[in-house]
Amino acid sequence: MGLTSHAKILALHRKLSTYDAHEKSFNNFDAIQKSQKCGCFFCERIFPAGEVEDWTSDNTAFCPYFGMDSVVQDYNVKVTSHFLRRMNAEWFGNFVRQQR
Ligand SMILES: [Zn+2]
Repeated sequence: MGLTSHAKILALHRKLSTYDAHEKSFNNFDAIQKSQKCGCFFCERIFPAGEVEDWTSDNTAFCPYFGMDSVVQDYNVKVTSHFLRRMNAEWFGNFVRQQR
């Protein structure tokens, strides 16, 4: 395995982890009850899990700040500003940051 393919595999792993986290942003009511903090990969804010008060009909959390269903939780996702930024780039193409 050359360096190039190793780099490709690393990139794939990074991508898979944001895809995996994105999956966990759906139907996440139960996971949020088990979490201390949540993060939104739309506005990239990190907030206490207890701040989530609105849910879609399929129990997907809405961000308390922007009302987007783009919330992940530390029960099963790494909630750091760095990771939220990567997810934002992946799913929103840095849209929010460009607006700031
Ligand atoms: Zn948000």
